[in-house]
Amino acid sequence: MIDLRSDTVTMPTSTMMEAISNAKLGDDVYEEDPTVNELERLAASMMGTESALLISSGTMGNLIANLIHCPRGTEVILGDLSHTFLYENGGISGLGGIHSHQLPNNDDGTIDIEKISNAIRTDDVHFPKTKLISLENTHNKCYGAPLDINYINSVCDLAHENNISVHMDGARLFNACTALNIAPDQVLANVDSVTFCLSKGLSAPMGSILCGTSKFINNARYIRKSIGGGMRQSGIIAAAGIISLKHMVNRIADDHENAQLLASGLKDIHGIDIDVTKVKTNIIFFNITHDSITQLEFVKAAKERKILLNDYNGKHCRLVLHSGISKNDVEKVILEFNKLLS
Ligand SMILES: *Cc1c(COP(=O)(O)O)cnc(C)c1O
Repeated sequence: MIDLRSDTVTMPTSTMMEAISNAKLGDDVYEEDPTVNELERLAASMMGTESALLISSGTMGNLIANLIHCPRGTEVILGDLSHTFLYENGGISGLGGIHSHQLPNNDDGTIDIEKISNAIRTDDVHFPKTKLISLENTHNKCYGAPLDINYINSVCDLAHENNISVHMDGARLFNACTALNIAPDQVLANVDSVTFCLSKGLSAPMGSILCGTSKFINNARYIRKSIGGGMRQSGIIAAAGIISLKHMVNRIADDHENAQLLASGLKDIHGIDIDVTKVKTNIIFFNITHDSITQLEFVKAAKERKILLNDYNGKHCRLVLHSGISKNDVEKVILEFNKLLS
């Protein structure tokens, strides 16, 4: 199978499996797992934050960050296409009593600064207090767009002038850094907290990292425990995460190169509608506009040809490049899609 559904399907490398079996372990709830401690130090130094915390998933990281920044009954401003709004089961509301204020995402993953500015609540007994602005980088539903650093800094300036924090859902932060050729600490210079996934392009079997000030991470440790995320000998997860950060970051450029190759191949296929200028990282969206096959039928037929991709309600298809997809695979996909639609 050539599995292009998501970069979450990546398998741990043999180096990771070796590191996992040799990892020095301890009880991380007592903060005594040396491998977890090493990963958290490494992550904090790469992100340029005081502290970092290993958590089980990106969803958990976004939830914890929202819970810390937004006391019950206060408000977070986020994009209407953001992962936190669409795909995290409404957890910030269900578990945190946080009011979400959705603003329209543009195709490049941004939310207009003016719209954010207008959405910030004034002091009034009728209004929830705005406590947080959440940005997604890269933006999954917006063609995997990396956020421009000037845009991020402008949002942070606006937020901080109003005593509001900024959280970055950086599940694919390293894809953003690769696309823009900047280091994570530069992207995050003015951001208050960030979460990024070890389990996507970085190919670890599981785990995400939440970063922020020491005070923030100390709070996060308490909340992680209360939602059942204290993981004991989690050095077996951290061991793979260390390999991710040390050895899997540089190869993300290959995924972006393969995405370009795949997108330009798809552009020439009759019945596929794609805007290749939108492809900036490892995510491709396209539509089937063929007379004799629907999108759902296309996805099914692709599966019969051993190619997996995600369909979103027949509206568009998504392909995600990752370490399990080679240049050969990309060429095969173009060939098979061509045959399928001819
Ligand atoms: C994958 C992802 C997450 C977190 O997903 P988990 O499966 O909970 O790790 C969060 N935000 C974005 C943008 C994502 O793509």
